Amino acid sequence: MDRILNYVDGAFVAPVDGGYLDNYQPRDGTVYGHLPDSTAADVERAVAAAKAAFPAWQKLKRAERAQYLYRIADAIEKKLDLFAVAESRDQGKPVHLARSMDIPRAIENFRFFAGAILHQQEKAFQTSPEVLNYTRREPMGVAGLISPWNLPLYLLTWKIAPALAAGNTAVAKPSELTPATAFLLAQVLDEVGLPKGVCNLVFGLGEKAGDALVAHPDVPLISFTGGTETAAIIGQRAAPLYKKTSFELGGKNPALIFADCDLESTLNTTVRSSFLNQGEICLCTSRLFVQESLLPKFTELFVERVRQLKVGDPESPDSFMGPLVSAEHLDKVQGFVERSRAQGHKVLCGGERVAPQASLLKGYYFAPTVISTTDANAEIMQQEVFGPVVTLTPFKDYADAVAKANATRYGLAATIWTQNLDTAHHAAADIKAGQIWVNTWMLRDLRVPFGGMKDSGVGREGGDYSLEFYTEEKNVCLQLGRNRL
Ligand code: NDP
Repeated sequence: MDRILNYVDGAFVAPVDGGYLDNYQPRDGTVYGHLPDSTAADVERAVAAAKAAFPAWQKLKRAERAQYLYRIADAIEKKLDLFAVAESRDQGKPVHLARSMDIPRAIENFRFFAGAILHQQEKAFQTSPEVLNYTRREPMGVAGLISPWNLPLYLLTWKIAPALAAGNTAVAKPSELTPATAFLLAQVLDEVGLPKGVCNLVFGLGEKAGDALVAHPDVPLISFTGGTETAAIIGQRAAPLYKKTSFELGGKNPALIFADCDLESTLNTTVRSSFLNQGEICLCTSRLFVQESLLPKFTELFVERVRQLKVGDPESPDSFMGPLVSAEHLDKVQGFVERSRAQGHKVLCGGERVAPQASLLKGYYFAPTVISTTDANAEIMQQEVFGPVVTLTPFKDYADAVAKANATRYGLAATIWTQNLDTAHHAAADIKAGQIWVNTWMLRDLRVPFGGMKDSGVGREGGDYSLEFYTEEKNVCLQLGRNRL
């Protein structure tokens, strides 16, 4: 049985209090390992190590820090299969998805920020012939990084890579539900000889280890990706300590499907955008709005395709969806569907647990579910389900579509399906979401700003935005002498 250890000051160590948590595999609901139930004492050690490592790390040339990041990327790439299997085992996604999406994107995070730090620009202002103002971007010290379970390695490295590239050291607290790839990453950091203390990983619960990190006075910045309610708690803890915070939070992402869309490509991508990774991607579509004239045809074709999606063993190359991440999350998702059904909404397909095969009866499988409703205020239209459940709702015209899309507290992402450039352009402006896709989904460019509007987040991640977050800007005003030789 696998036992995970914390990685502190370049060593693999047991938690100070000796407590461990069970690690379940969603595939069959069995306990397959244990992870540290870290406490404030573990966080204390990790922060002390990161603080001690900071002066030397920040003084390295950018090119030297970049070389470490390239080495980390190469080392993960060599173990791609190992990482993919570990991620699937922990989180439930099919191994082939982890192999083709999560792990390559994690590798890319390190390569991207290794390059980005070499191209970061600072500013200079010639105030007068004798006065020059210039800015310096300086790392802040120990970065506190807290990540969720849905894309465990990808979202963790999306924080670690820019934090280290910019010259900070780090203490990361991955989700308690998915520690395996973070542990493999710690082994990679060790193998490539990253100086001890530069990146520390502390495993355990959010309310315990996560909270200790947020409250630690020697951690000046917190980058958090997770739920909107958790961010409110973290914000309250961090604000009196004047910490810099970045919040990447939940979504209730709409797809606006206009009658003039390219139907085939809309159907293909919307099935994926709704159910990839069991709908457990913050950017997954969860509310489909379809123009009235297209609704009957769209509904028939969409539901037919959703019914064909194979929910199965994540180890099987044929499975499109695996199990949900935990028994608790499965109950939560099912509860949303049952309450929606009780309110009179029509479940067009799915809506129940499934068991792909006899040996997996205790796994956390849920059928992809489509619910038809026109009740914009219903819980299922307002709250983040974060599972394989989408709603289908008609809209009359452009104004109705935009009003419906905007009628939640969230504003993370939206997709627009139309062949009319004017419609696309106006909708992109009128929908309140930090990421708009037109006739596509999940295409990423790591240089662009990423983050949510409204209650979906504060701050942005991506190229320069991340490098700015992980540094403080300072101005130097230089009065030049008037005497010349
Ligand atoms: P949570 O908010 O429950 O947890 C996220 C992380 O925060 C975990 O590591 C968790 O620890 C930790 N945590 C929990 N409570 C505290 C606390 N009081 N102090 C410090 N840390 C704490 O989110 P989930 O893990 O359930 O992830 C799903 C959520 O993340 C969804 O809402 C999803 O939309 C959002 N998300 C947003 C993304 C974005 O980029 N906008 C991307 C991906 C997901 P532990 O789990 O160990 O208890």
